[in-house]
Amino acid sequence: LNRRLAEFGTTIFAEMSALAVRTGAINLGQGFPDTDGPEEVREAAVRALRDGRGNQYPPGPGVPELRGAVAAHQLRRYGLSYDPDTEVLVTAGATEAIAAALLALVEPGDEVVALEPYYDSYAACIAMAGGTRVPVTLRPHVEGEASFRLDLDELRDAVTDRTRLLLINTPHNPTGTVLTRAELAAIAELAVERDLLVVTDEVYEHLVFDAAEHVPLATFPGMRERTVTIGSAGKTFSFTGWKVGWITSTPTLVAAVRSAKQFLTYVSSGPFQYAVAEALALPDEYFSAFRDDLLAKRDLLSAGLAAAGFTVFRPAGTYFVTTDIRPLGESDGFAFCRALPERAGVVAIPNAVFYDHREAGAPFVRFTFCKQTGVLEEAVRRLKAAA
Ligand code: PMP
Ligand code: GLN
Repeated sequence: LNRRLAEFGTTIFAEMSALAVRTGAINLGQGFPDTDGPEEVREAAVRALRDGRGNQYPPGPGVPELRGAVAAHQLRRYGLSYDPDTEVLVTAGATEAIAAALLALVEPGDEVVALEPYYDSYAACIAMAGGTRVPVTLRPHVEGEASFRLDLDELRDAVTDRTRLLLINTPHNPTGTVLTRAELAAIAELAVERDLLVVTDEVYEHLVFDAAEHVPLATFPGMRERTVTIGSAGKTFSFTGWKVGWITSTPTLVAAVRSAKQFLTYVSSGPFQYAVAEALALPDEYFSAFRDDLLAKRDLLSAGLAAAGFTVFRPAGTYFVTTDIRPLGESDGFAFCRALPERAGVVAIPNAVFYDHREAGAPFVRFTFCKQTGVLEEAVRRLKAAA
């Protein structure tokens, strides 16, 4: 294994899901729903397969139906206008979008500023691109509603003459933070002032709760022309196995990302692309029902974890809730998560794996709530009994 990848080992998601299988514990670690997405979308995939649409290599940029649907979705939800032929690229999930964007846009030695904790593939892909990651730590605030917040001064200080791009994620995995309009405006100003590219992972765009609002970074002044926006059907439609994602950006940036993408997978998910095209055109009621279902589950799990003794950072977005285990007399999230399946029959993820500053992430543990209500209730029962 080369030096660029040696530090990464096996992804925590594979390790913890294997632990769940081995111990029979409830898996609230890896974020995948235990209920598949809409029946009519599955039917659309079956139709595509049967009718011979997408069974052979689809076009490199993605099938026109899906590119058109992605562009229509960005316009309908956010008023962002993209040309489906030159400004949309279909990828093998958001994972490939992240990889291709970083491989295409980062020169060896460039610095990439990313929010910490960061989704684990960011660090590995920055490394594969030969870049240097510069993490800006989201800080826990426990007064009032507990949350992790971005310190804009720390962000500004992280940018140097070697900074090539900002890698942003909102709604944010694993903290559940949704960046506010004011925070995004400040990020946008910084990007314009320092002439930075921005890659923004917005795969949880439809999972925002209460008063929180998802505002794409590309909507801010000066941003559309420097921003690569990433979306995924895995999150929005509960089909994580289909691996259909996409980017929207300018023709120049899309062409750049495609240059890398063509040598990663070339193309993928043929019939599923047609099905996701139909999914993106679902009425607004689909998206609000999806959100409301997860909102109820967020509240169930958050209340249960609090009752079991955790400090809970109730998320404004995503389907993850981060907790602090120190009130339980614990301080090492790794040790806690490795022992939890035997102790309580539940699997969770230690947030420390998403940090360069491991000590800053040590006491935090993430649970997902994209599971059936009965499963979450049973997990809460077990955690309370073990507390
Ligand atoms: N970005 C974030 C923040 C994620 O949480 C995930 C999935 N866990 C991905 C990207 C990857 O998405 P996909 O499954 O579409 O590759
Ligand atoms: N994105 C999911 C999570 O954060 C899992 C993705 C994966 O397993 N790579 O849990």
